[in-house]
Amino acid sequence: MASVYEKRPWLKHYPAWVPHDLEITRDTAMGDFFESATHKPEAAAVFYFDHALSYGDIARYADSLGAALRDLGVRKGDRLIIVLQNVPQFLIATYAAWKLGAIVVPLNPMYKEKELTYFCQDSGAKIFVTLEEVARGLDLAFLKETAVEKVITSSALDFLPKGAEPSSMLGGMKKERIPGTLDMLDLFETYRKGGVEIPSLGPEDVAYLTYTSGTTGPPKGAMNTHGNIAFNARVYRAMQKIEERDVVLGVAPLFHVTGEVAHLAVAALAGIPVVLFYRFDPGEALRLIERWKVTVTVASITVYIALMNHPDIQKRNLSGFTKAYSGGAPVSEAIVNQFEKLTGLYLYNVYGMTETNSPSHITPWKKRAPVDKESGALSVGVPVPNCVMKIMDLEEGTQELPAGEVGEIVDSGPIVIPGYWQKPEETRHAIRNGWLFTGDVGKMDDEGWFYLVDRKKDMIVASGYKVWPRDVEDVIYQHPGVKETAVVGVPDPYRGETVKAFVALKDGMEGTVTPEDIIAFCKERMAAYKYPRQVEIVSEIPKTLTGKFLRRTLREKDQSHSQKNKG
Ligand code: AMP
Repeated sequence: MASVYEKRPWLKHYPAWVPHDLEITRDTAMGDFFESATHKPEAAAVFYFDHALSYGDIARYADSLGAALRDLGVRKGDRLIIVLQNVPQFLIATYAAWKLGAIVVPLNPMYKEKELTYFCQDSGAKIFVTLEEVARGLDLAFLKETAVEKVITSSALDFLPKGAEPSSMLGGMKKERIPGTLDMLDLFETYRKGGVEIPSLGPEDVAYLTYTSGTTGPPKGAMNTHGNIAFNARVYRAMQKIEERDVVLGVAPLFHVTGEVAHLAVAALAGIPVVLFYRFDPGEALRLIERWKVTVTVASITVYIALMNHPDIQKRNLSGFTKAYSGGAPVSEAIVNQFEKLTGLYLYNVYGMTETNSPSHITPWKKRAPVDKESGALSVGVPVPNCVMKIMDLEEGTQELPAGEVGEIVDSGPIVIPGYWQKPEETRHAIRNGWLFTGDVGKMDDEGWFYLVDRKKDMIVASGYKVWPRDVEDVIYQHPGVKETAVVGVPDPYRGETVKAFVALKDGMEGTVTPEDIIAFCKERMAAYKYPRQVEIVSEIPKTLTGKFLRRTLREKDQSHSQKNKG
């Protein structure tokens, strides 16, 4: 007999225009872009600040860069790292790489040399594409320890018309070549004729390696296939009712799965524009929503909070922005209500992971997500088409739980990645018999709505960015005074959660190392979103009998502290 989950009680919430199952085709993420470029070359693909680039423009640049990459020896299956902000070069480098059947490895431009070395080594990438100002901030000598053969740079100003006043966000920036690197504009010029043959590429081929720590351990490259991405682009198109007149606000980082799928893949599939503005700035976002008549986006809740707190929110016309989705971090009903009161716009909750290629659960457009009476959690929505999601017991993950009971959320269907890059063991741990164990704790109500109530994994979500304690602990352990450290997430009014390190010092070091020393040490060695904002020196880190840190005890210790301080 089919279980409560296999009956898919959520299907009754699908709007009439959403099929219960989408047709499974041989479509690919690459094919979707080139279809649009062939059939509507004049249509706008990117609005970069105030300037438009058409599908034809992006396709031509991708063809030239593809020819250059081919001459640099890039072949099917090779990896190409891109370390870019939200700029048109992200699309150009991605589509150029895909034209050769290569795999794109997008990384956060905030990473420091140590972090980048790991990703270059793990992916074995040959080519490293970045922005001049990112390269200037790095000592590129770290690349000697990797398989990277060539670095291609470009400027955030390259796609703004000559002489145009750049946005204040790019104020003071100048195009300045980086010695020892190839300039992307020079490559466009040299390879103006392009002429790359599109390889035979199927849905099972890998489009991106998107790094995530998943539920545990060091970062792993999630293999997002061309088929996964093409499928979830169709899921968004159906659930958000994307049409030709839609305009996407490209506000999530393109190097994250939300940017890859909810922005780029959706826009490419529908042949609609995506608005890019380097990196998030609330005033610029509000200006561009009005300027380009933005209708849709998926962003983290911190983006909406920043928009709400910006004075321009009252001045700008946001009336067309009716498909505002929030994903990636918990959303409280109170914030959704505040946003709606201020703007008249309802924030739709969407939930997913890098491993599910963005959405696994979504609130269909024009539906309102219910709130769970017991936990107060706003529903993350209903499972997407073609998929079955279940709640399994928290201990073993072998027992399916009835509706209404809390357990681990597991996902199955065409949204799930085939695995992690060259990590068979971690893949087997995360995906068991086709079921992805999410590490998220939640439940389904009788009506088929899902709720997240806790996390089994140690992940911290700070300002919408994912931070894994182990990543931060590895750096703190390099400090000569540190005996032991445990990092946890603690509540923060603006960042949602922030990173806190509990540190026990080596014998005799007490009083010689301060919390500020540890913070400064970390700041120098890791991306800005990750370093601990709070450090507490303790005599000992509480542990279980088997030596595992009691992170929950530490989080509670922090909360009782702050209660005391408040009281
Ligand atoms: P990532 O792989 O970086 O996309 O992170 C995925 C994780 O973010 C999920 O496993 C959840 O823990 C969290 N997450 C994503 N969307 C939501 C949401 N709408 N509400 C609460 N947590 C979320």
